[in-house]
Amino acid sequence: MFTHRKPSLVNTSSVSERSQVPANVHLWSADLVVPITAPSVLGGAVAVLNGRIEHIGSRDWVIATLRERGMTYTETHVPGVLLPGFVNAHTHLQYTNMAEVGLRQYDGFPSWMAAFDAIYDAGPLDWETSAAQGAEYMLRYGATCVADVVTDPEAASALHDAGLHGVAYWEVMGYSNEEWAQRGVSSVHSALEKMPTPPAIGISPHAPYSLEVAPLLEIPDLARRRGLRLHIHLGEAQMEARWDDVEGGAALADLWRNEKSASFTSIRQAGVGFSATEFVDQLGVLGPDCHIAHGVYMTADDRRRLRARSTAVALCPRSNAVIGLDEPPVAAYLSEGNLIAVGTDSLSSSPSLDILEDVALLYDIARRQGYGSSDLSRRLLQAATLGGATALGLATGQHRVGQLQAGALADMVVVDVPVTDVMSTIECVVREGAGRQVATIIEGQLRYAATNFPHDDVAGHSADSSVFPTHTVKG
Ligand SMILES: [Zn+2]
Repeated sequence: MFTHRKPSLVNTSSVSERSQVPANVHLWSADLVVPITAPSVLGGAVAVLNGRIEHIGSRDWVIATLRERGMTYTETHVPGVLLPGFVNAHTHLQYTNMAEVGLRQYDGFPSWMAAFDAIYDAGPLDWETSAAQGAEYMLRYGATCVADVVTDPEAASALHDAGLHGVAYWEVMGYSNEEWAQRGVSSVHSALEKMPTPPAIGISPHAPYSLEVAPLLEIPDLARRRGLRLHIHLGEAQMEARWDDVEGGAALADLWRNEKSASFTSIRQAGVGFSATEFVDQLGVLGPDCHIAHGVYMTADDRRRLRARSTAVALCPRSNAVIGLDEPPVAAYLSEGNLIAVGTDSLSSSPSLDILEDVALLYDIARRQGYGSSDLSRRLLQAATLGGATALGLATGQHRVGQLQAGALADMVVVDVPVTDVMSTIECVVREGAGRQVATIIEGQLRYAATNFPHDDVAGHSADSSVFPTHTVKG
């Protein structure tokens, strides 16, 4: 059991003098800074100006550079490791109030679905409050950027209201071809119009077995014409690996079918002998603007296809375990070079929204599957940051996240583990970092600080760095 070290977030630099000039630059220093896009720095620092990273490097170099430029700064020395904020690449924040479902263990989709429906159908639940609670958990666990799947419109503003980065995906499911032709496009357009931005919005066609061919074919075009991202559940169910498993396919389709939708015969006939990945690829769903969730039941050809389309996969291993599915092929994804990201999924199929719990499980799975390379921890940390940013189209450009780099948004998390050498410390973050996120920073603003920090009132609520003693150093 981990015992928290005494936090020292307010430990500041030696203060030479107070300047009359307001300090614009905030310097966040730590014993280890992990930029992800550059080598890690022992005794590092990140200088933040107007919500973006101005300089990053060794603390001495950053300070010297600020002085050379005549810039004043305020320094906060954080305990442990300073990293880019995590990117939670697959969740459904609105199901946060369905935690009783995710705390149990199931033996496959039918039993999990029955437990889920028992609560969902008894509704209506307060999706707005539930999604807002989920957003608070994101901040608590160091996720600053989120791929949130929205099924009910009341949940659509959670990321926006919390000031989180990422993409809110409007979920489309249960449409037959006829229904889609009658009202599909207009209903999706009107749902998208009501979603507040920022952050970005996108569309999530639920899964190959919950939609017929027409919506699966048209949604990607509809999204792409508007420049929106796509996200789909793929390879989460066993029968998806072989689409000629007609009985399995029909049974699964029935679970998601609403009372109005037609039979899924057409989809099965169209796809006989195809894997689900091949099937959606034929329909044009995959591409660099699309990422998939789960990717458990993927053949070597499926994984190759994802690489060929530059489509990332958000791995959610704890959700797979709760539902009673198999483990994703983590070692194969790593050795073959697939783009991977990490998601918690929702509390309806996972015991917590702590992404580092999933990262730790991915580590164990990869080792069990025979991945022996010493780069495992580093690559998993990359998956949980830059990999997620890539999956959401936020790895480059003006709004880039998932990296600590000059010009990137200053989204950061502090994980309080003992700092030794770089490799051991990174492995410690990956395997034992869960629950040890002690501060979350979005665009330079402190948005979460652990309760055992001074100024308890900031925990879990909006806060800014002014809660810490500010010491201004003349450049
Ligand atoms: Zn999901």
